[in-house]
Amino acid sequence: MIKAITGTKDTLPSEINKWYLLENLVKKIFSCYNYKEIRTPVFEETALFCRGIGTSTDIVSKEMYTFIDRRETSLTLKPEMTASVVRSFIENAMDKKQSLNKLFYISPMFRQERPQAGRFRQFHQFGAEALGSNDPLLDAEMIIMAYNIISNIGLKNLEVKINSLGVPESREKYKTELRKFLAGKEAGLSEDSKKRIDTNILRIFDSKDENDQKIMADAPLLINHLDDESIAHFEKVKKVLDSLKIPYTVDPKLVRGLDYYTNTTFEIISGSVGSQSALCGGGRYNLLVEQLGGGAIPGIGFAAGIERILLACENENVLNLPEEKIDVYVVRLDKELDAEAYLLAESLRKENLQVEVDYLLRSVKAQMREANRLNAKYALFFGGEEYSSGEAVLKNMSEGTEEKINIKDSLSIISKIQR
Ligand code: AMP
Repeated sequence: MIKAITGTKDTLPSEINKWYLLENLVKKIFSCYNYKEIRTPVFEETALFCRGIGTSTDIVSKEMYTFIDRRETSLTLKPEMTASVVRSFIENAMDKKQSLNKLFYISPMFRQERPQAGRFRQFHQFGAEALGSNDPLLDAEMIIMAYNIISNIGLKNLEVKINSLGVPESREKYKTELRKFLAGKEAGLSEDSKKRIDTNILRIFDSKDENDQKIMADAPLLINHLDDESIAHFEKVKKVLDSLKIPYTVDPKLVRGLDYYTNTTFEIISGSVGSQSALCGGGRYNLLVEQLGGGAIPGIGFAAGIERILLACENENVLNLPEEKIDVYVVRLDKELDAEAYLLAESLRKENLQVEVDYLLRSVKAQMREANRLNAKYALFFGGEEYSSGEAVLKNMSEGTEEKINIKDSLSIISKIQR
């Protein structure tokens, strides 16, 4: 038997309503902040992600699904959305049409990571990107919007972490400091961290290795080496978050995995999902548009993982859905009256009722069992004696009451049905 690929997952009909609920809530909140949806292709030229995300990152160096197509072009299934959105922003000259573009997305992503609870190889993210302003107010908006979405879902056990990575100049100076600090300590570091000294030294702060963490506990922090402008920017972001009482903490070790961040970075962590605890992450990327061939246009964004949020919901017992029901189950009393029964069902569906008919030629008893299983509010008995006088019997399933209705007059049937 052929099975789904490791790290991928079917979303079954029994789970889909949670996705709808979550997606609708996400869209509603994005629209309150005037973000418009963007959809980009599932695959892009590999070079986009190498240039946009950075070759020293985990995503590009070991997680991308890259393949050569029949025209010998290297393509990659998108591992994240920011590079794709920025590519589309530049290609469609969005900045020529309006100076600030606020975009959101809901999309599958692909990364060849080691699967575990809350970590998949195809997963789904919703997120936002705002391109065209360096106003710290927009940084605050991004954090607040992400926090509002996640807390509106009903999740409680949340922690917002923020940090500032400053600008490349001060960061480069700081990296030299950090290298000096680590000089002579290399032998105690894990193999991964040893490699990162040259490739992506900030990421050593992310290491889960105990020895790495002990060594890094005394390391100088980037937040103490920021330039004045970055400090002022960060102070303004914090001021807005304070005024809205967003429960955040400054985490000077929050470096995030990607190369493109400048200034503000943030994450929302859940205490309810085990080791893969980041529900959402984001930050400012003022150099990315230029790096991908566009103008000097600042940007900021975030991405949140839907599977991980749903896992947190399950563990906190929130996002519970009302029991599923249908409006009418048409019980066929005469097998010969097939087209007629179908016609009646169709006329009710035209009025937006949820209607099911028996297609399995079941006994009346079995059809009633099915009506109960589907939580039908009404059963409509079609056929028999009533049919010859142009009528059918409508049974209210919860009250057990029955009344005769005229089958030609679907509107009068609808008026009797309480949705
Ligand atoms: P990132 O793009 O790595 O900053 O991730 C943003 C969010 O996407 C994370 O906080 C997770 O919620 C989610 N996410 C990232 N990678 C995975 C994965 N492999 N499986 C499931 N969710 C993921």
